Amino acid sequence: MKIRVGFGFDVHQLVEGRDLWLGGILLQHTKGLLGHSDADVLIHAICDALLGAANMRDIGYHFPDTAREFKNIDSKILLKKTVELLAAKGYHVGNIDATICAEQPKLKAHIPLMRETLASVMGIDIDDISIKATTTEKLGFTGREEGISAYTTVLIEKE
Ligand SMILES: [Zn+2]
Repeated sequence: MKIRVGFGFDVHQLVEGRDLWLGGILLQHTKGLLGHSDADVLIHAICDALLGAANMRDIGYHFPDTAREFKNIDSKILLKKTVELLAAKGYHVGNIDATICAEQPKLKAHIPLMRETLASVMGIDIDDISIKATTTEKLGFTGREEGISAYTTVLIEKE
């Protein structure tokens, strides 16, 4: 079996007047993430890690933010398409480990539903996706609640 690792990182700005989509679910918050798509920063970091692991460039290459078809798109669709791109190259997801950096809202209670949602989109076992949440101790842009960032490591496998 061939195995490869990948790493993904993404940031989106938190602004008023936008829904907060994170980890494939809608959260109640006073602000939401700004972007061309639904700006789901965790899904974007996962897509980039998967594409990087397969050496298939990045999310912006496959789903450009200048394309009308991706305007306000549900990032779960992008994740599903990414998994299909990897499958075409013979790879499937081994496991995913992700960290979200956000001061607010508190994410702990929402993580089980995020894992369930994303595992279902990717067709993987819920045990193969780990999502962690941290603050940055009020430091930097995440600490000032100006944005949310996400880091992801993935393992992909080919028989
Ligand atoms: Zn993004």
